[in-house]
Amino acid sequence: MLDTQSIQAIQCIVGEHNLLYDPARIKAYDCDGYTAEKAEPSAVVFPETTEQVSLLVQYFYQHGIAFLPRGAGTGLSGGAMPTHHEVIISLVKMDKILSIDYENHRAVVQPGFVNLHLTQRIASHGFYYAPDPSSQSVCTIGGNVAENSGGSHCLKYGVTTNHVVAIKCVLPTGQIVELGENFGDAVGYDLLGVVVGSEGTLGIVTEITVKILKKPESVKTLLALFDRIEDASDTVSALIRHGIIPAACEMMDKLTLYAVDKSHYHVGYPDDIEAVLLIEVDGLEAGVDDVAAEVVHVCTAHHVRTVNLAANDAERDLWWKSRKMAFPAIGRISNDYLVQDGVIPRSQLTHVLEKIAELSQKFGLRVANVFHAGDGNLHPLICYDARNPEELQRAVMLGQQILELCVDVGGSITGEHGVGIEKIQHMAYMYNQFDLEAQSRLRYVFDPLGLCNPGKILPTPQSCGDRPTRHVVMSIPSSL
Ligand SMILES: Cc1cc2nc3c(=O)[nH]c(=O)nc-3n(C[C@H](O)[C@H](O)[C@H](O)COP(=O)(O)OP(=O)(O)OC[C@H]3O[C@@H](n4cnc5c(N)ncnc54)[C@H](O)[C@@H]3O)c2cc1C
Repeated sequence: MLDTQSIQAIQCIVGEHNLLYDPARIKAYDCDGYTAEKAEPSAVVFPETTEQVSLLVQYFYQHGIAFLPRGAGTGLSGGAMPTHHEVIISLVKMDKILSIDYENHRAVVQPGFVNLHLTQRIASHGFYYAPDPSSQSVCTIGGNVAENSGGSHCLKYGVTTNHVVAIKCVLPTGQIVELGENFGDAVGYDLLGVVVGSEGTLGIVTEITVKILKKPESVKTLLALFDRIEDASDTVSALIRHGIIPAACEMMDKLTLYAVDKSHYHVGYPDDIEAVLLIEVDGLEAGVDDVAAEVVHVCTAHHVRTVNLAANDAERDLWWKSRKMAFPAIGRISNDYLVQDGVIPRSQLTHVLEKIAELSQKFGLRVANVFHAGDGNLHPLICYDARNPEELQRAVMLGQQILELCVDVGGSITGEHGVGIEKIQHMAYMYNQFDLEAQSRLRYVFDPLGLCNPGKILPTPQSCGDRPTRHVVMSIPSSL
């Protein structure tokens, strides 16, 4: 816990109203969207300017106090969960849009600005912000930068790193730096590229310059229903093989469809289908109809039961809501669930989904699949009941085996949710000791005292500046 002197020092920087340290109130910050593990911070502080963030970090650096940045807390790998009683630096009060330059397609926002609000603010000018995580109505752009977040439309348009051109960042020593360039590529090492996706371990992002895009002239949205999940998976690879790059290509399996149809976003999916593909194509008015026809052709060649074009905006919105609200909808059929996030080559979709079904049987837990199929980015949602600790253990084991499967087929342990604490042990499954040491040395350059979000991403103490992570020892129940 913080001593009285530190509490007073922090209050001097941000004001009394911007510091929480009462145990009852900081309890709300004991986890993020990864709820399988919890631990409390020593305090939560709400700076309102870059200068305040810098003064806070300088104080923590001088006094050896560990800290971590936090946005909306929707992260799914535990990146914003304290592991060493860190002080949480919440960026939610830095939530302004600082400037919009329509002529040059740029916007500058503070880190606590909510992703969807950017598109809403610029829509009347015919613009939008492309990265669209399903959590976009609440997650912050600062959190997106830290996680290098993806989303449904990242298949064609690229993930966060492709849309951030410059940032202001407070380093773990308290120094304020500007990385990247508003226009053109920065000369020298790509330090912006290093910070994007670093999960809040290399500093605190306090200002972000992003690209904004003109809305496409025409958008067509198709919903394809399949009797067999293999046919849906094969369709995804076939579309890309045909040279079609949809703006989005999302898949939901039977269990997911059942859950969303029980939610507020009831589409009325037939009970006996195994999978749905939500496919969107966009571009110039003149060509989009032809591409949509090609999509129908590929689906038909893969035994689709029906494939329909959205008749109007209301139908399109409903289809998208049923996809984007699929994670929360799983709460209708299961007390708790773990969201996994692995990447595989698209061509392995059929094989990997079969294996996931086998693992689900083996561990005796239901797994719902809803994911960015076009990117090969899987999200198996593992259903369990947290009131039964043995079930939680089985869910974690099942998740771990899915991640290993992804690596074994040539993929990766995370597509967009980050490593955080959830996948920390799996870093050693993907990388050898030399790779991990190299990453650790890089981290040390930014954070020589190891105070900035310690215990995340890298599995064991790799250098003198790094703190040891907590070890979760999971054993396979003898019945499996
Ligand atoms: C229902 C649901 C659907 C989701 N769908 C998607 C999806 O489609 N695609 C996707 O990519 N993710 C998705 N996510 C995961 C999550 O929303 C993203 O990772 C998001 O970017 C996290 O943003 P946040 O503001 O909530 O960050 P937080 O959870 O608060 O923090 C995430 C990480 O970023 C760091 N961080 C936060 N702010 C800063 C900052 N200003 N500077 C430096 N580091 C910082 C934190 O330390 C932490 O490590 C989903 C989550 C939920 C709950």
